[in-house]
Amino acid sequence: MMSQPVYNGKDNYLGMISGTIYLQQKNVINDMLSTQYDYKNSHLYVLDQDDRIIFHPDENRIGEKIINNSGPAYIRQHQKGSIQLTNSLGVDNLAGFAHIPSVNWIVISQQPTDALLAQAHTLLFKVSVGIFIFYLFIFLLVWWISNFISSPLNRLAKMASMLNQAEIEDKIKEVDPWYFEVLKFRTSLLMSSESFSHRIAELKQHVNTDPLTGLYNRRGMQLFLNELLDTCTEFAVLAIDIDVFKKINDQYGHDQGDVVLKTLAQIMQTNFREHDICCRSGGEEFLVLMTTADPLVAHKAAERLRLTTQDNQINQMGQITISIGIAFWPKDAVDVAAVLKIADNKLYEVKHSGRNCICSTVKSSA
Ligand code: GH3
Ligand code: MG
Ligand code: MG
Repeated sequence: MMSQPVYNGKDNYLGMISGTIYLQQKNVINDMLSTQYDYKNSHLYVLDQDDRIIFHPDENRIGEKIINNSGPAYIRQHQKGSIQLTNSLGVDNLAGFAHIPSVNWIVISQQPTDALLAQAHTLLFKVSVGIFIFYLFIFLLVWWISNFISSPLNRLAKMASMLNQAEIEDKIKEVDPWYFEVLKFRTSLLMSSESFSHRIAELKQHVNTDPLTGLYNRRGMQLFLNELLDTCTEFAVLAIDIDVFKKINDQYGHDQGDVVLKTLAQIMQTNFREHDICCRSGGEEFLVLMTTADPLVAHKAAERLRLTTQDNQINQMGQITISIGIAFWPKDAVDVAAVLKIADNKLYEVKHSGRNCICSTVKSSA
């Protein structure tokens, strides 16, 4: 029963209005709170000033006084808020509450903690899995993009250490320069590769040539000998020696001697054909490998060289002469070293018979 005293304007008591609510029947509180909060066992109930239940979804509990519930003391103290409490049945609950001052009632919305957290755990698990999949996807995407961006640089970087390999330029050109850095890197690598191959060619050239005359040295000559042997190309060996060169050195000095060596090298290069190999075999001695088996052709070329040399005026030193010995592979010997030796022997035959002449293993009619 609820009652309210009535006063007039002068605060004189006139009487009392009172009403009775039958809590377990259809009533005004029921009407107000009839919303069904059946989500995971949540329910709403109302306590009066004596902690007696005046509304509860379970009608049997209406009128019951809350005694074993750990919450009401705290709720009375705080008026509104939330609390974790153990209800009269010993079940742990999470509750939200609000106080109605005019009637000193408390409205409590309560739900078993386990039911709520079970839901929260499921939710947490689902969110975690979702986040994991999302981050995995992002990670794979970032990995793929970074790999896509870095792969041309990576390929070029690997090639940077292989510039000495054949066809490396073609491999570098295969890299698609789809962004500026790759283009720059690719261009500079191509330039490096080009200068590298020039440098290698230059070094090879240096290794195989005589620095004073520019003719092939013994090592360079050996390469050509191998080539001629591999292809079974018949050839003539011309062993050439400058006559009394020591005297030139002694008379005009070593520098002038070098000038003579260079001049003879130039004459040799113009005298012989492109396919003939001119070498400086050492000191003032030279060798020419002529790709011919014809003694007449070899003799004619040797004689042309001898005459051109003899007719050539080298500054104050005047004219020089040369002696030439000729032998043939494989006619004179199958062993190349033996053929070179035979040509050398023929040269010394000339030296002994007065110099400035040619001596061949085959007598030519020229
Ligand atoms: P021959 O007619 O018997 O061949 O007499 P030659 O004086 O030419 O022969 P010899 O072997 O007595 O002398 C060769 C000289 O060549 C001796 C050496 O100092 C000189 N010589 C060797 N290499 C060089 C060089 O690179 N530059 C100069 N200027 N002289 C060299
Ligand atoms: Mg000599
Ligand atoms: Mg000599």
